[in-house]
Parts: sequence; structure tokens; C-alpha cells
Amino acid sequence: MSVAVRFAPSPTGLLHVGNVRLALVNWLFARKAGGNFLLRLDDTDEERSKPEYAEGIERDLTWLGLTWDRFARESDRYGRYDEVAAALKASGRLYPCYETPEELNLKRASLVSQGRPPIYDRAALRLGDADRARLESEGRKPHWRFKLEHTPVEWTDLVRGPVHFEGSALSDPVLIREDGRPLYTLTSVVDDADLAITHVIRGEDHVANTAVQIQIFEAVGGTVPVFAHLPLLTDATGQGLSKRLGSLSVASLREEEGIEPMALASLLAKLGTSDAIEPRLTLDELVAEFDIAKVSRATPKFDPEELLRLNARILHLLPFERVAGELAALGLDDADAAFWEAVRPNLSRVAEARDWWAVTHAPVAPAADDPAFLAEAAALLPEEPWDLSTWGTWTGAVKAKTGRKGKDLFLPLRRALTGRDHGPELKNLLPLIGRTRAQKRLAGETA
Ligand code: GLU
Repeated sequence: MSVAVRFAPSPTGLLHVGNVRLALVNWLFARKAGGNFLLRLDDTDEERSKPEYAEGIERDLTWLGLTWDRFARESDRYGRYDEVAAALKASGRLYPCYETPEELNLKRASLVSQGRPPIYDRAALRLGDADRARLESEGRKPHWRFKLEHTPVEWTDLVRGPVHFEGSALSDPVLIREDGRPLYTLTSVVDDADLAITHVIRGEDHVANTAVQIQIFEAVGGTVPVFAHLPLLTDATGQGLSKRLGSLSVASLREEEGIEPMALASLLAKLGTSDAIEPRLTLDELVAEFDIAKVSRATPKFDPEELLRLNARILHLLPFERVAGELAALGLDDADAAFWEAVRPNLSRVAEARDWWAVTHAPVAPAADDPAFLAEAAALLPEEPWDLSTWGTWTGAVKAKTGRKGKDLFLPLRRALTGRDHGPELKNLLPLIGRTRAQKRLAGETA
């Protein structure tokens, strides 16, 4: 059977690093196995689901290169869920319940105060036809619970190993709301079964759902997939990353932080695994290195500083073709490979290239505080054409003429030519600055 996985976000907010890590792990798993990757939008929560979030999810995955082979939207499948619910009602696995949220809260509070787990007491199962008729005549509408079997539920989790739950220790889950709408616990199983999902890889916040969902798979006649539950990312202090933490959204990492897709992918593919985090320029390399067995049970910490450092390391390796579009979007349409190669060792973010473009292509007010020396140096500037050897030839001549060396030789030249104390290697910058500008800057003119 060919491997099929899914990433099933709810379009109720922006994807953050934690969500997209699960997307990436699913995608890598599928690609490694030669299987297929389904993007499924869990959009049955109609109040909170928004088209702009759905678009954002597609944009974020596309940006990362996580293409999907199949696409599904739960809101297209209500007819199918109704069909399954009707069958479960007919077989007695779904039963109507009439408690209000307040009544359920009271029940829970009372169990907790007695030191007992807050498991639903199945009072609704004891209602007779007359009781139900009376409740409905009072205007109450039922929600529907799934009757769990009180037997052990077991699976071998690809991350957690053998997992065991007692059915009797779980509450019968509500699968259909009072307004008739099906809930995630059911819809997810129906989709996974219908779309022949072989492996469900998701966050460990779903472990208890899995125990329940395995029984639902069995009740609907679906094949129970293999499960893998990954520990959720936390921040540096061990706090969970909430979905609404805007600063950790993929959109803000891309648009505000200037993070490259391969920096994010390189980090998220390895975070919480036994592999070292290294810059990788293609998803194919990450596929080759991927093995779900490397995922550890320990809680991985996401550190934005680590991501930025990795972003810098990626930029230092990226060829011009891979950033040409981003440079053009910054307005640097004329930037070429020579410019990129000159400045990339000094960048943590592509947008910083603008500063160096200004140094090579726009007027700079030089820090020309050693005019006599600079005039001597200017007189020795070779004729163009200039190339990567020009700096060495020129400064060799300046050194021979003035007897200066090291910092005394180089710093005044750098400050005059770039207006700064630090920056990319002048060997690379000098040909980009060109003779006319260099001469003026050495003479203390803004050029
Ligand atoms: N929509 C669910 C979530 O975002 C999907 C969980 C699952 O993978 O089954 O948590």
C-alpha cells in the first residue's frame, strides 16, 4: 500500500512555526517513502474559519516548497459526514444527549471535587423514549456522543512507542453538535479513512484524541492508520507556542524577519531530532536525511535567534539565481552575481543587501580623515577594467609607496571608499564601486 499522509490545519489563524513543522515532517515523510501528501483544511468551525487564513496556509506552504498532491476541504464533505453519522446512530454508537454546557460543568466540577476523573457519566444512555420526547418538547436539541467500548486501546506510535489507554478512562466524545454540525473528532476520521491515509503524523496534543479516534475508525469500518505524535515546540522558556503568537507566524518570519524558506526548513526538519542542525539549500537534501525514527520524545525549543543565525549561513551559500527575485523585489533590479557574491558573506537577511547596494551604486559621504595618504593612494589607482585582482595590485603599490601596512593601510581606504569601518571584502567591492567613484571618495567628495 502506498504511503499517504496529510497536513490538516484549521484555517482559523496564521500558521506558526509549530504548525508548519508538522507540515514539513509530513511532507518529508511522504517524499522519503515515495508516497503522497494531502493538504486538508479542517474548516468545519464556520465561525472561526476564514478564507484569508486558508489562502495564507497555501501561500506559506508554497513558499516553503511543500507542494501537495491532493487537496480536500472538510466543508465540502458535510453530506458524507451526515451519512456516516446516520449509520453510527442506527448502530447505536452515537447517542443523543441533552445536557446543557452548565449542567456538564456542574457534573465535571462535582467529580473533580470528589477526586474522580471528569468522565461523562452516560446519564443520557439511561433516558427512555418518553424522557427524550419530554426534553425535546421543552425545546432542547440533542448533541450526539460516541459510545466508546470499555476495552483497552493500544497502538505503536512511531515517536512514542507503545501507547495504552483504557476505554473506560475516556469520556464518550461529542461528535455532533446541537446544531447538527459534525465535529473534528469525527470528520478527521472519516476523511482519513475515505482518503486512505496510512500515517497520521501530528502533535502530541492529539494523543488522547487518537485513543478515541481508533475506536471511531473501527466503528466506521476504516483501516486504522499508523500514528506518530511529535512533542510540540516551545519557546526558550519552555512555554507553548500559541497559534496567535503573530511574531512566530510563517508570514511574519517571511515578510518581517526576512527568513529564507530553506533556513526555516533546515531548522524545523532537524529540531528535536538526533541530527545536527545544518544549513541545507534544498528540500531534497532534507528528504535524504529524514527518518521519523530520529525524532526524539524530548520537547524541542524554538529559538528565533538560532533561526536568524541559520538564515545568515544559508545566505552565505545561496547562489545569485536563488535570490535574484528577492533582490529585484527590493528594487535592486540591476544587482548581478558579482554584487551578490561580494555582499552575501555580510548578510543575515537579504534586505540588508540594500545597504551595500547603496555603498556600491549610490553616493557615499566618505570618512576621509587622512587626506594626504588618501591622495597618494588615489594617484596609484590602476586604470580600468577592474577585477578581483585590482585591490591586491593597488594596495600592494600603496604599501610600497607609503610604507603603511595592516590596519593603517586598509582602514583609511575602507572608510574613504565605503564610509564605514566594516563590510564585505574590498577586493570584491572595489570593482563594483568603479574607478570614478573611488577616485572622488578618496578625495573626500560625496560620490
Ligand atoms: N485540524 C486539526 C488541528 O489543527 C488536525 C489535527 C490532526 O492532524 O488530526 O489540530
